[in-house]
Amino acid sequence: MKFSGLCNPSEKPPDLVEVWLEAGREGRTFTYSADAALGLQAGDLVQVRLRGRPLHGLVVARYNVSLGATVPDKVQAVEGLVQQAAVDPQWRLWLEGVAERCHLSVFRMLKAALPAGWLGQARTLSEGRALLWVERLQPPVPAPPLTSRQQQLLNALDVAGSGLWQRSLEASGFSPSMVRVLETKGWVRRDRRPLSTGVMSVAPLEAARPLTSEQQQVMQRFEAVPDGEGMLLWGITGSGKTEVYLQLAEKELAAGRHVLILTPEIGLIPQLVDRCRRRFGSRVLEYHSGCRDRERLQVWRRCLAPEQPLLVVGTRSAVFIPLSPLGLVVLDEEHDSSYKQAAPMPCYHARDLAWDRIRAGGGRLVLGSATPSLDSWVQLHPDGPLRLGRLTQRISQQSLPPVHVVDMRHELAEGHRRLISRPLMDRLAELPEKGEQAVILVPRRGYSPFLGCRSCGEVVMCPNCDVALTVHRGSGGRQWLRCHWCDHRDEIGNRCAHCGSTAFKPFGAGTQKVMELLNEELDGLRLLRFDRDSTGGRDGHRRLLDRFASGKADVLIGTQMLAKGMDLPQVTLAAVLAADGLLHRPDLRASEQALQLLMQLAGRAGRGERPGQVLVQTYCPDHPVIRHLVDGRYEAFLAQEVQLRREAALVPFSRACLLRLSGESASATATAASVLAERVRPLCRDRGWWLLGPAPAPVARVAGRSRWQLLLHGPVGSPLPLPPGPTLWDELPRGVALAVDPDPLEL
Ligand code: ADP
Ligand code: ZN
Ligand code: ZN
Repeated sequence: MKFSGLCNPSEKPPDLVEVWLEAGREGRTFTYSADAALGLQAGDLVQVRLRGRPLHGLVVARYNVSLGATVPDKVQAVEGLVQQAAVDPQWRLWLEGVAERCHLSVFRMLKAALPAGWLGQARTLSEGRALLWVERLQPPVPAPPLTSRQQQLLNALDVAGSGLWQRSLEASGFSPSMVRVLETKGWVRRDRRPLSTGVMSVAPLEAARPLTSEQQQVMQRFEAVPDGEGMLLWGITGSGKTEVYLQLAEKELAAGRHVLILTPEIGLIPQLVDRCRRRFGSRVLEYHSGCRDRERLQVWRRCLAPEQPLLVVGTRSAVFIPLSPLGLVVLDEEHDSSYKQAAPMPCYHARDLAWDRIRAGGGRLVLGSATPSLDSWVQLHPDGPLRLGRLTQRISQQSLPPVHVVDMRHELAEGHRRLISRPLMDRLAELPEKGEQAVILVPRRGYSPFLGCRSCGEVVMCPNCDVALTVHRGSGGRQWLRCHWCDHRDEIGNRCAHCGSTAFKPFGAGTQKVMELLNEELDGLRLLRFDRDSTGGRDGHRRLLDRFASGKADVLIGTQMLAKGMDLPQVTLAAVLAADGLLHRPDLRASEQALQLLMQLAGRAGRGERPGQVLVQTYCPDHPVIRHLVDGRYEAFLAQEVQLRREAALVPFSRACLLRLSGESASATATAASVLAERVRPLCRDRGWWLLGPAPAPVARVAGRSRWQLLLHGPVGSPLPLPPGPTLWDELPRGVALAVDPDPLEL
């Protein structure tokens, strides 16, 4: 480095620091000078200027300039320290390991892990920012009448004790204007408070419950789990797993360690956060994609400088939260595939990273599920680091609902060619008079999965993707076509573009069509649709579920998200219309995932006072998944599946890695795929791996981009046969993107 210009020798010379800035895809480091008084260290967040633009950047290294030396003229000075120790050195070390395994540069890994806005454009992030705090007042006299929603808001405040942040109320679906109305009527008072004070004053409201003997046994067993290991908590739905998490968390918090509880679906967050807040008050924070960027930043900050042991509830990205010391990580519904991020890079599974974190930094893991994943099952003691904890009884003492299989072949043979079988019709028809509710799983959203020609067999495809367009229907009966991959929309023609025939019709049934059929056949049944189209918005899930739970509908018709974790005590019937679509997917984990989903769905029925029932319509009543569902023998299913996979040396008895290529040009992408294959083939050979492909991806074109893939298989525990670091990318032609998925879920 060339130095010019003399420093005043009587002053302490400035430091030179390398600052990582978000510039370009990878980010880059630039050299800045900094007043020695700032005492900058690697890991500090600073404000600098790049081409006149104010940016936040991360100090990655510091050099001392010797006395009397000079600082290059062009070197600009750091403008200020934004946050000291913004990135903990140990956390960064851990993340570097993750980056290496994900074949991503450390910079891009950091960017993926840190909350948006942490780096980049400088914004004011004042620590003492005041937020609106809402407090309950003595009821005004005479008390003006309240709507039921206003009453609910007041109840929420009563439950919280001293008050709530307005934004927490907003997150629960109470608008700021509602709060304002209550304020003018004299029910509540609002004032601005710094984040730290208000939060501290929320006191826990609920004490721990006395545990059942099963729960106690689980707690005791967990005591024997050493640091860096964990427990697989296999408990049927409603058996009190969450209560166990809470009591384990309580112990950790009391011992001064932090706790992280992850849940796969954002829709499950509100229930869980409510439950945690009632128990632990203000030390509960939430971190997930439903939070605004600003909220995520604030939570992140609080975790870096916690004033007390914290409990963070979040979805998969919360696994990166920099809590230290971390005593306990819980993954609820650990089998759920939403824990996997397959795209964009980094491709990771929150469970793997959780393992990694507790091994690197201490702490213990709890994996909870009614249907544990096979991947975790094979990690049970004595071969692996997981002890088994079992909860076999529902707290309510209700037994699991019996499963009734409707053989659709019989229905057909008896001349009933309807989508909804007679037994299901009969059960649905009697719901309203009994005051009961049902949930119906329909694997597809929209009206019909595709539009086809009965004369020539032509199916209308998306112009940008290799998938059929789905028929959707508006409230007025107007129909249009939509692509579920790229959201392309199109009109529906009345003739086949291929042969001109008018025998051009929607095939199959999505959630919308099932609604329509039920409306036609069962007059007076009140239906509610629960899928990605109907649950839009920040609190879409919660609002719909609240409506259903308060008895505004008899039947909830939805896609897979319906099966997940909701507690709806009036539901006595859980039904699947076409189980076959779930059974016959060309995927290694198809059976496992189908059984998990069906058992999860079964768990929705009979959670309250009245016993439940499950009804499954299928053309394959003898399929092993259906048989195990009926018998309720999940363990037997796993044992069988483990044996199958072991014999065939399939995952998890081997390792897989998927290299996905995509590009606008079909030929360039195909060429890149074969070049990459030639590059990887010798590496595979050397390390005992083998290569499948290159081959077009199962959906070979999405949103106008061609997709190719290479599948690598190798021995368990062996490193990927890829060159280290991001060198693979450098060799790719422009316009072709590569994603490395080290342990793909879909195989
Ligand atoms: P899971 O997470 O296994 O579905 P939960 O922890 O949600 O089960 O428990 C189901 C229901 O039983 C909840 O309403 C919960 O409050 C209640 N519950 C759990 N444990 C106890 C206990 N020891 N005593 C009384 N009620 C309990
Ligand atoms: Zn045709
Ligand atoms: Zn498309």
